[in-house]
Amino acid sequence: MSSVRLLLSCLLVKEVVALSGNFWHITDLHWDPTYKLSDDPELVCASSGKRPAANAGRFGAYACDSPWLLINSSVYAMKDILPDPDFIVWTGDDTPHVPNEDLGEEAVLNIISNLTHIINQVFPNTKVYSALGNHDYHPKSQLPGGPNNIYTRTAEMWQDWLDPESQGTFQKGGYYTEKLLNRTGFRMLVLNTNLYYDQNKVTQDMDDPAGQFSWADQVLTEAANNKEKVYIIGHVPPGFFEKKRSKPWFTSTFNKLYVDLIQKHHSVIYGQFFGHHHTDSFRMFYDSEGSPISTMFLSPGVTPWKTTLPGVVDGANNPGIRVFEYDTQTLLVKDVVTHYLNLTRANAANGRWEKEYRFTESFRVPDASPASMHQALERIASDRCYLQKYYEFNSVSYDLTECNSDCRVDHVCAAREVDFERYEHCLEKEGAAAIYGGLLPVLSVAVSLVLANR
Ligand SMILES: [Zn+2]
Ligand SMILES: [Zn+2]
Repeated sequence: MSSVRLLLSCLLVKEVVALSGNFWHITDLHWDPTYKLSDDPELVCASSGKRPAANAGRFGAYACDSPWLLINSSVYAMKDILPDPDFIVWTGDDTPHVPNEDLGEEAVLNIISNLTHIINQVFPNTKVYSALGNHDYHPKSQLPGGPNNIYTRTAEMWQDWLDPESQGTFQKGGYYTEKLLNRTGFRMLVLNTNLYYDQNKVTQDMDDPAGQFSWADQVLTEAANNKEKVYIIGHVPPGFFEKKRSKPWFTSTFNKLYVDLIQKHHSVIYGQFFGHHHTDSFRMFYDSEGSPISTMFLSPGVTPWKTTLPGVVDGANNPGIRVFEYDTQTLLVKDVVTHYLNLTRANAANGRWEKEYRFTESFRVPDASPASMHQALERIASDRCYLQKYYEFNSVSYDLTECNSDCRVDHVCAAREVDFERYEHCLEKEGAAAIYGGLLPVLSVAVSLVLANR
C-alpha cells in the first residue's frame, strides 16, 4: 500500500471513530439510609417493609433498596468502565420505598442532595441531564403542576447541570430543554412524566399539567423547523408494565397524549430513555402504517428491591447500569451495553461489576435503531431462545426461570404496544396464538394416534 493510501485509510478510520460517542444512563438508585447488617432479617432495612431480608450482605439485599455502599460502588463502576462519557442521563427515584410518614420534604431533599453530590464528585466535568422520579417528592408521586419547594431546591442542587433558562422551566414544572452538549442541531428534552402517573392525585383532573404537553409540542415543532435531532428522557414511562398484565402507569388520557406527541414529532426524535420499572426492556412506537418510528429504552435500576406490586411473583433484579453508544452526527443509537453487579456473588466474595451483554451481539441486529429494535422484538416474539435471553436480561440476570407462554404474551405486548387499546388487542391476538400453538402438538399427536389405529 502506498503511503498516501495508507494515510488516507488511517484518516478514514479516525473519521469513523470520531462519529461514535457514548453516554451513561443510570436510574432508580433508591438509597435506603436505614440499611444495616443485622442478625434479625426484619431489621435490615425499612424498605423491606415486613418482609425478612434474606441473604443480606454489604452490597445489599433483594428485599431492600440500596445501601450507600451499593450507590457508591455503582458510581465508581461507571468511572472505572467509562470514565469520560459525553454526558450522563440520570432518570430519578432516589429515595427508599417506605411509607410517607417515614420520610418528609427535608429527608427527600437530603437524599437527592447526597446522590447529586456523589455523581458530581466522581464526574466533575461531565454534563448530567437529570429527570425527577415519582419518589423524588414528598408525599411520593404527588408532583404538582406548578412551583414548589422541591422543584426550586432541586434546581439549585443541579445548578451546575442546568442552563439559566432550564432553571426557570424546572422550577415551574420540573422539566427543561437544552441544546445537547451545546451543539447546534442537537437537543435534549427532559420531561416530568410523573405529572401523568395515575398515582398522582394532584394532576389527574388537569388537561395539561404544568403546560408540559403544549410546551413539548412547541419545542419539538421548533426543533423540526431548526433541523434539530432530539433525545427525550424521563422517569415514568407510558404503556404497560411487562411483569404484570394490563398494568399501565399513565392515566389513559395522558397515555394517549404522549403517544400522539411521539407520532406527530417522531422525525426529530432519535431516542427516548426512561426508568421506573427497574427492569431492562423497551417500548416500540409505530406509525399508522405499522412502520417502527421510535424506541423508548427502559434501563434497569441500581436498586435490587423486590417490588411489592400484587401479582408480580419475584420482582427483584440485580443492580444494573448502562452505556449507550450513538452516532454523534445523526444521534442514531448504535448499541446498548449493560453492566451489572451479581448481588449474591458480590456479597459472598466482594464481586465486581461486569458486562452483562451487548444488545447487537445478543440479538444479532446491526444497531439499536427503531428498525433493528423492531427486528429484535419480532425475534423475541417468535423464537424461544431469544425470548429466554431477553427474559433473563429483563431482571438483570436475577430471575433465570423459564418464560412460559403467558410470560411471552405479557412481555411482547408491553414492548410492542404503548397505546391502551392496541395493547389489549395484542393480548387477545398473542394469547389466542399461544393457545393454538400450545394445542397444535397435542392435536397432531391425537391425529397420528387415530391414523395409527386404523
Ligand atoms: Zn424506582
Ligand atoms: Zn418510579
